[in-house]
Amino acid sequence: AFNPVAEIIFACHPEEVLGKPVAVLLPGRSQQEVAALLADLAVRPQVVPYVTDYLRSNGDMLQLSVTAVPLSYPDGSSGGLTVIVRDLNPSLQVATQLASRDALYRTIVETAHEGIAILDGDLVIRFANTRLGSMVGYDIEKLVGSSVTSLLYSDDVDGVRELVERRYQGVSEHSEIRMRRRDGTAIWTLTASSPIPDETGEIQSLVMFADITDRRAAEVALREHEDRLGRLFEYASVGIVRAQLDTMMLEVNPAMCRMVGYPAEELVGRTFLDITHPDDREPNEDTISGVVTGMDRWVEVDKRYLHRDGHVVHVRATVSGVPGPDGVPVYLAAIVQDVTEKTVALEALHRNGETLRLLAESAQDLIFRYRLAPEPHFDYASPALETVYGWRLEDFPPGSDPMRRLIGDAQIETVMAALDSGRLNVAPISVEATHKNGRRIWSEARISTIIDDTGELVGLQGIVRDVSERKAVEDQLAHQALHDPLTGLPNRTLFSDRVQQALTRLKREISFAAVLFLDLDGFKLVNDSLGHALGDELLQGVGERLRSAARSTDSVARLGGDEFVVLCENLVDPTEAMTLAERLLEALAAPFDIAGHQLFISASIGVATTPATDPDTFLRDADTAMYQAKKSGRNRCTAFHPGLHEQTSRHLRRASELHGALERNELRVFYQPLLSLASGEVIAFEALLRWEHPIEGMFFPEEFITVAEDAGLMPAIGAWVLLEACSQTARWTQDYSGLSISVNVSPHQITEELIVHVQSALAASDLSPSQLVLEVTESAVVAIANVSVLERLREIGIRISVDDFGTGFSSLAQLQELPVDELKIDRAFVQRLAGTEADAAIVTSIIELAHAIGLNAVAEGVETTAQAAAVRSLGCDSGQGYLWSRPVGFKSVPALLQRLKNPEPSDPRHPSLGTPGATPL
Ligand code: C2E
Ligand code: MG
Ligand code: MG
Repeated sequence: AFNPVAEIIFACHPEEVLGKPVAVLLPGRSQQEVAALLADLAVRPQVVPYVTDYLRSNGDMLQLSVTAVPLSYPDGSSGGLTVIVRDLNPSLQVATQLASRDALYRTIVETAHEGIAILDGDLVIRFANTRLGSMVGYDIEKLVGSSVTSLLYSDDVDGVRELVERRYQGVSEHSEIRMRRRDGTAIWTLTASSPIPDETGEIQSLVMFADITDRRAAEVALREHEDRLGRLFEYASVGIVRAQLDTMMLEVNPAMCRMVGYPAEELVGRTFLDITHPDDREPNEDTISGVVTGMDRWVEVDKRYLHRDGHVVHVRATVSGVPGPDGVPVYLAAIVQDVTEKTVALEALHRNGETLRLLAESAQDLIFRYRLAPEPHFDYASPALETVYGWRLEDFPPGSDPMRRLIGDAQIETVMAALDSGRLNVAPISVEATHKNGRRIWSEARISTIIDDTGELVGLQGIVRDVSERKAVEDQLAHQALHDPLTGLPNRTLFSDRVQQALTRLKREISFAAVLFLDLDGFKLVNDSLGHALGDELLQGVGERLRSAARSTDSVARLGGDEFVVLCENLVDPTEAMTLAERLLEALAAPFDIAGHQLFISASIGVATTPATDPDTFLRDADTAMYQAKKSGRNRCTAFHPGLHEQTSRHLRRASELHGALERNELRVFYQPLLSLASGEVIAFEALLRWEHPIEGMFFPEEFITVAEDAGLMPAIGAWVLLEACSQTARWTQDYSGLSISVNVSPHQITEELIVHVQSALAASDLSPSQLVLEVTESAVVAIANVSVLERLREIGIRISVDDFGTGFSSLAQLQELPVDELKIDRAFVQRLAGTEADAAIVTSIIELAHAIGLNAVAEGVETTAQAAAVRSLGCDSGQGYLWSRPVGFKSVPALLQRLKNPEPSDPRHPSLGTPGATPL
């Protein structure tokens, strides 16, 4: 290849040089000389160019830098070089020529349907076209200069990094990469990169992104569909064949192979004629010609095949044409049924020959002839009557109406109806026969009528096959289609159906129905930290508890994930539904014992009651109410009312605004001091997040952290808080040594990624790990089985603090095992300290417990001097609360430090704790 810049530099067209030795570009140099030069270049490190003067054919003198990179290909082979030549002091002429080309290229790039970016070795976007901006929803100015990793899901970062690292090796193969749009949705792109030098000669990557989201979605849908069909194909008991229009087989299923005794590889490539009995070959073409031309949709063919071992197989094949996009058949689909047994037996009956009778005798199917006169009786019945159905002919003495005893009144009606409609002679009918012992046996009967010479119906004859097994499989399949395999509960389809029935019934009765929509709180956390197997067990356990807590008339179903629904009918009063919801919550309260773990899980329940129009709305209303229950703090139930829709949309709006809050710089960190209760000195700050909404004002964490967690934004926001808090603290430490910073981390952040975020925040701020404390709430520490992340953070030298201690469920034994350094006594306990002795006893024992296992105790929410005195006298190590300061913005911190260093003795809000001679508190 020879690119346009090369054309300009060497002033020649590609046709003039392609296929010729490189030496033609360099008059005055021999071929060997050039080859040696290139070989030498190829082994240099990529960035060290070779610089040479070059006299162009028009007399210009250029100074060129030359780099060569060995080419390697996606298949692993290599050979050849990419030679990159750059004009070091571009003459005017080259520049103008380039400029006009530049304009052309710019138009091409800007009108391209693909997103185009140039990435440097650090994955920073150096250029992006408009299309890329619109694909991911950012302005180009935002994109340029930022790292492409912010557009990627963490799984794909390595793929793109590799793409870029291989930029020295020529054009990359295509790979499918998922990008994250600004609005949080994903976009699938087909991506390829090619090397491109920048102004300094550094090789960068030109990456093209084609949007294939729609194609991917279609592929996924298709794959699921194919999966289902594939199973049907594998397990069907009839032969299924896909064939060309000339009947050459393309695909055959196992049943087909078994029927004719050939392995699939031998059948594929043969035509139906090849396996057809020689006497039946002739008419084949004619019979299917209607299907081939598209005149008939399908045709039924009764014929004989020859089994590979030579015996005859009687089949009934239904052949249909499968139309292509233009409606004309493009291939054939055949369903082939082995009817040998039936055919042979029927022939036997017709001919009544002794040999054939023997055959009938050995058949597993019941073969019979039944006479209606003088009294209904079996004229003949094969031994299957006894072996399969348990009856002997002697059981039917004259006058006993055998048919009625065998299949019962209802079934006789079925047979009579089939007889009247003329279907009896044509198609098999399903009947439920009764074994002599009373057991029902699902059977399929092929019955034909016996007519005498005068046209009178005198009897019936036929074959009855026990299909109970097949029926059981069918029932099982039907069950599977309507039930959740994990919990065995009904699935969404069945549940919707039941809701529909309930709604129909309600029209007639005067009662209420309710749908309870239940979503587990923090289930994702269990699943992510303990693994899917345990998560599945927990779901099963939850399913069982719900089923036993609900009334026997209620339907409990699982919609998928951690969502369960309950349908309650016949309620006298809508409030009954809330009572049931409360009962479900109670049923979940006790811990689940799973693989040696004690797991606590709560749920949020939304309740919708009738009137409701249709199942979908009914479920959606309950879902909306569930959402509200989640939002108002989880582990509770909320009843649906129409105002909720509006609140939900506000929540959604807030979530989408929060997406941009980081980027728009609307998040703030406030700082609240922690003081040593012994010395009265500020020893640390706690970083507390705030969101300064441009219109709605300041939001506190309670109002948006759950939104951020649900929207998956917590890792990014948490990383920012860490960096911000560490950087500020490092600054203050210059004047005020020994300060630590406590940063709250949400359970959603506690993954491997947190370690990376912590390390980069420490590195960027130059803060020592010993100055950083991470606060994790008690319930989160207990829930996180994957304590290894916390352990590794401690190995780095970071301290872990258990926040809101006393509100969770941890036991002493658990605490001892957890990798923690500090307990923060929840402010509820501290604030009740002035009250009863029991409250004091709790705080005392927490402090003693903490000290006994070597942990620090911190009192949260100290508001009064009395509380401060109390926690100090109980031996608490440090305190935090409005008494000393509310959380403040970073600008106020130096003044705050100053104030707390020199408390005004007259101000009772700032007691001089621990200062010698201070008034005892
Ligand atoms: P927390 O970690 O228990 O933080 C202490 C909360 O108590 C703060 O509320 C603080 O303003 C408040 N507080 C402090 N002293 C007193 C007092 O004397 N009296 C009373 N009544 N309250 C006091 P804030 O800032 O609203 O934060 C609430 C919770 O939000 C925090 O509870 C923490 O769990 C969470 N949070 C705050 N910032 C972050 C963050 O950056 N990331 C995460 N994941 N969670 C955060
Ligand atoms: Mg905290
Ligand atoms: Mg707290």
